Amino acid sequence: MTTETRLRIAMQKSGRLSDDTQALLKRCGLKLNVSDRRLLAHVTNMPIDIMRVRSSDIPGLVMDGVCDLGIVGDNTLEETALERERMGNKSSYIRTTGLNFGDCRLSIAMPEGFNYQGVKSLDGLRFATTYPQLLNRFARDKGINVEFCLLNGSVEVAPRVGLADGICDLVSTGATLEANGLVEVEEIFHSKASLIQTASPLSAPKQKILDTLLPRIQGVMKAKE
Ligand code: ATP
Repeated sequence: MTTETRLRIAMQKSGRLSDDTQALLKRCGLKLNVSDRRLLAHVTNMPIDIMRVRSSDIPGLVMDGVCDLGIVGDNTLEETALERERMGNKSSYIRTTGLNFGDCRLSIAMPEGFNYQGVKSLDGLRFATTYPQLLNRFARDKGINVEFCLLNGSVEVAPRVGLADGICDLVSTGATLEANGLVEVEEIFHSKASLIQTASPLSAPKQKILDTLLPRIQGVMKAKE
């Protein structure tokens, strides 16, 4: 079958969303032939291919129409959309449905002992983050100026080593913050995983596959509630 007739779905290759995503697809009845080294995994019982990539690549692949669908965290989605808008690149997509996993929040955290007296206390400070666009939007909305230092990992050590005054990072339980002597002071974005779809209309065969798949996804989500 050609790429015009097989629905292509992007998912995280490995990380916090990959197990839940794979489990969801399996519970929808998809038989996946996943091999660690392969970028494209074929579904053997439906005309669907799964592209396994870094989380941060998923929104762009869907926005550019390389993949028809993607399963990604709202945080990554929103950050990418803001960044692409800033760069003048295509940033449209359809949020087909929210999913009930990948729950986390993007929060600002400061070293213990920091005298936090509301958002204005953060004015002029420097934050380590992987999400500069979301942080900038928050600062703009609150009428404060912030600087940022872009880090893709180990964000929570930045204040201790003098790279930043505080951090803006994803939190779920708060245990990592506590272990690093940080206190959450502002939640700036709440995130869950979403199924997204390219903004361009799908070909008729692909739309038909999605019309079969989507009720199954919604059924699995409902059963988990
Ligand atoms: P990749 O390694 O694929 O480039 P990543 O660095 O964002 O992506 P993960 O740390 O696996 O990889 O996180 C994937 C997604 O899981 C996050 O973008 C977020 O939507 C979700 N998530 C849920 N809870 C957390 C958490 N406590 N910390 C980080 N991410 C979380």
